[in-house]
Amino acid sequence: MSELTGPAARLPKLRRQMEALDITALLVTDILNIRYLTGFTGSTAQVVVTPTQAAIFVDSRYYLQAEQQAPLYELVKIVSPKRWHEVVAEYLQSLSLERVHFEASLSYAAYEDLTRALTAGAEGGITLCPTRDVVEGMRLVKDADEIARIRAAAALTDECCEFGLSLLRPGIRERDVAVEMECYLRRHGAEQEAFATIVASGPLAASPHARATEKEIAAGDLVMIDFGVMREQYTADITRTVVVGRADSRQREIYAVVLEAQEAAIAAIRPGRQGREIDQVARDYIAARGFGEYFGHGLGHSIGLHVHDGAGFSPSSTVVLEPGMVITVEPGIYLPGWGGIRIEDDILVTADGAEVLTRTPKAFRVVG
Ligand code: ZN
Ligand code: ZN
Repeated sequence: MSELTGPAARLPKLRRQMEALDITALLVTDILNIRYLTGFTGSTAQVVVTPTQAAIFVDSRYYLQAEQQAPLYELVKIVSPKRWHEVVAEYLQSLSLERVHFEASLSYAAYEDLTRALTAGAEGGITLCPTRDVVEGMRLVKDADEIARIRAAAALTDECCEFGLSLLRPGIRERDVAVEMECYLRRHGAEQEAFATIVASGPLAASPHARATEKEIAAGDLVMIDFGVMREQYTADITRTVVVGRADSRQREIYAVVLEAQEAAIAAIRPGRQGREIDQVARDYIAARGFGEYFGHGLGHSIGLHVHDGAGFSPSSTVVLEPGMVITVEPGIYLPGWGGIRIEDDILVTADGAEVLTRTPKAFRVVG
């Protein structure tokens, strides 16, 4: 293991990646990629990296913050009335580059502005080349510091999950449960929710991404709670499904199928396997029990700085698992008119298998 962690390790690693991809200059515009590379946590910046230069561009809102958080990067100030693309273009031209790679997630409008600024008054000009997943690919494998942060986020998510489940009873509205949970997260150290909290009850849980509504939860309802936390910049994500009041045999039977599919998929995780193989384990299990057409989404997604942090488990996923990846496993069965059951945990790929980071119990539960 190298002693370097965080941005100090990531900049040389990025340069090695760039060399392998024949990229001499990379313009990074995705704000989470910038956060990952530099440590800067503001909302707006751009970064240029070459074999010898590393610069972060910010406007006056962030001069001080960028100086403190991104000391490895030369600070280039955007000073009004000059605009971003003009300052970045001047900087790139000063390096006498022929080609600059940019992230394909750059907006078309920003691309047009930059192209215009690069060609205005320049001799020879700079060719802009699109590139994908250079930094995103690095972000897939977490270092020790990132794993520690995700563990902390997962621990808070577990605490809040128990809190949310304790609120469930006939008559409470979905939205009130979601609001209470969001307050709990903020009071206990979260910067924010990782995404809008899902509390879906009864037939509404048949939509995998239902939002919490005004609906009152009724006795006998399945309730699916799916939420996540962002803490120290890193996310966690969990889903639990329980029944309020009294459960019937169909709810128990389908719950068992989802849980067994989830556990089989987790048991199949190990370095070297492809994302789609893990997806297939859960999908085959659910299909063999007659519910194949009711599991429409992918099995899981990478988490990190973003709750959807890159590759994951899906029928098309070719990602090859490596120790340090953190990916959710979240099979579900959704029956129109009846409801849905999903169980989701965050899984760290280890040297010889998997560690489940979210620990909220998964045995079938009747609450309220
Ligand atoms: Zn989730
Ligand atoms: Zn998820």
